[in-house]
Amino acid sequence: ERKAALAASSGPGQTSDGHLVPLLANVGGPGDVPAALAAGAEGVGLFRTEFLFLDDSKQAPTEQAQVSAYRKVLEAFPEGRVVVRVLDAGADKPLDFLTPADEPNPALGVRGLRTLLEHPEVLGSQLRALATAAEGLPVHLEVMAPMVADRADAKAFAQACTEAGLQAKFGAMVEIPSAALRASSILREVEFLSLGTNDLAQYTFAADRQVGALARLQDPWQPALLDLVAAAAGAARAAGKSCGVCGEAAADPLLACVLTGLGVTSLSMGAASIPYVRAALAKATLAQCRRAAEAARAADSAEEARAAAQQVLSGE
Ligand code: PEP
Ligand code: MG
Repeated sequence: ERKAALAASSGPGQTSDGHLVPLLANVGGPGDVPAALAAGAEGVGLFRTEFLFLDDSKQAPTEQAQVSAYRKVLEAFPEGRVVVRVLDAGADKPLDFLTPADEPNPALGVRGLRTLLEHPEVLGSQLRALATAAEGLPVHLEVMAPMVADRADAKAFAQACTEAGLQAKFGAMVEIPSAALRASSILREVEFLSLGTNDLAQYTFAADRQVGALARLQDPWQPALLDLVAAAAGAARAAGKSCGVCGEAAADPLLACVLTGLGVTSLSMGAASIPYVRAALAKATLAQCRRAAEAARAADSAEEARAAAQQVLSGE
């Protein structure tokens, strides 16, 4: 028992029967790296690059400033995976020099990849900085775009990556229901998917993520959200590609088991949650995770889904 507990407190994320689920960290910059390493993160699953741009919302940081920040994060995970998200500006992350001031519904406006496609010089500079930062490092660099809605978005992003000379895997975040529903189409253009469950919940339930009164609708246990996760993960599996989760949902140990059962291939979260998720996964078999996922999807509410999964996973 003690041996099992020790094994679960470090090492790779895996179910009790050895199904591997890499546990990755969400970071906002080099300052978050020590905590990620201390928690035993197997890499970075979401590097939110906004932090570099927030220092001065009047202009983009220089390419050189970006190179040095990206390099510090890439160097920290020599053999690991680092998934960098290109700038996600707009809505809850406005930037003066990029975000239109007069949008009636900023969350439904020009944000994320939409902003970058309107400002190709900002995207190009970021991609070139990433290419330079990764030079000579053995790291597995993956670069993904936020707020991809359809295949055309994915194609435009992949083209920009290729034009910047980036040697990396290119991916799409699944944060919009259309992207989950048509994930197989998006996967014709990119090599991996990453579910941003915070925005995916917001857009699935038409419930602003910044409005606390709507918390019930933003609950990632909502069966409708689980259905969309299953759709995206199933499409990735069929295409032989990976589909991670990097939203808050991945940080809930019980939900992490359900996501694994739905076919998600990696989980990325704030470093502090990694030990708890590792321990929960180590207690469940893959078959149990799958049964918990089925039970949760058969429920009619978030509360029922959570209770049903709990019952399966505690072996009651
Ligand atoms: C998400 O939307 O789930 C996500 C990971 O991105 P952010 O929270 O930065 O919008
Ligand atoms: Mg998001």
